[in-house]
Amino acid sequence: MFKALMLEQGEDGLAKAEIKEIDETALPEGDVTVAVEYSTVNYKDGLCLSPKGGGLVRNYPHVAGIDFAGTVEASEDDRYKPGDKVVLTGWRVGEVHWGGYAQKARVKADWLVPLPKGLEPRQAMAVGTAGFTAMLAVMALEDHGLTPDKGEVLVTGAAGGVGSVATAILAHLGYDVAGVTGRPETGDYLKSLGASRIVPREELNETTKRPLETETWAGCVDAVGGEMLARVLGQMKYGGSVAAVGLAGGAGLPATVVPFLLRAVNLLGIDSVMQPYENRLRAWERIARDLPMEKLDAMVQTATLSDLPKLGADILNGQVKGRVVVDVN
Ligand code: NDP
Repeated sequence: MFKALMLEQGEDGLAKAEIKEIDETALPEGDVTVAVEYSTVNYKDGLCLSPKGGGLVRNYPHVAGIDFAGTVEASEDDRYKPGDKVVLTGWRVGEVHWGGYAQKARVKADWLVPLPKGLEPRQAMAVGTAGFTAMLAVMALEDHGLTPDKGEVLVTGAAGGVGSVATAILAHLGYDVAGVTGRPETGDYLKSLGASRIVPREELNETTKRPLETETWAGCVDAVGGEMLARVLGQMKYGGSVAAVGLAGGAGLPATVVPFLLRAVNLLGIDSVMQPYENRLRAWERIARDLPMEKLDAMVQTATLSDLPKLGADILNGQVKGRVVVDVN
């Protein structure tokens, strides 16, 4: 038996969460069984925990949690043996497959990554999908020619999970980071992660009729989308790139193509869910190297399974600062 936060549909069709003791035979099919140590809370977890499953959860009863880290307990795959430390993000685990809000998980070996040297399971979950995606975004900007001498890099949704990790990584790599936040009280926190200036959200969340504004940003990690992304595109320096990561401010993009045509701006799509294995390894190695652990510690709050329903609602309301680590035991 093991403990899990089970989501079950009531007669009204809405899902409710309750901590339950589950028999191991109920675990889904898979070739590796993992004793989960930690999970986390990402924006998508907020969606999966919501009463309608955010359009992501297909079947109930369900165990959410899109990330986990822990120790292999049993394996039918040669790549893993009992005792190995592993991390999982993406592959729609926690959405269509049972996820990390439980003491045990069973998944395909292909979905796992060995825990990178230098990271503990707790630290890997402090990073989680949000931090992993922030690293993918920074790597994509670098692959498109971004270097610290090119100028200021903007991070939107800076006090959130993706934004906090992107800020810390970029600052550590020597970039001059400007963080956009709608929460002015997080200014000191963002500066402690390495931001050199704070841009109030109001400055960027209204549309303008001007397709081009002053060339300001050499690069951008955008967790917000919507009006803000449209504004940022018009403010990019010649040849600069925006890594489009999220939609916390909306899925629309009320922009023109002018920045692409007149300033050779690049809009780079970032997906963490279906990333191939080799790139996952590359990103986790970069995280272990380029994310200072004391900064990671400063962005983390710890929670338990019973805190999750509230945290899920909080993250959808933009109320979670930095990252949450969930101790499932
Ligand atoms: P968080 O909630 O932790 O961060 C989002 C931040 O965006 C908030 O903290 C807030 O920052 C800002 N924000 C929230 N609402 C608005 C709004 N209406 N207008 C402008 N800014 C807003 O979530 P995560 O960091 O976990 O995820 C961020 C986004 O990235 C989500 O949309 C998520 O779905 C997406 N994502 C995508 C992935 C991919 O593979 N492409 C992987 C991971 C996440 P502040 O308070 O500083 O303004």
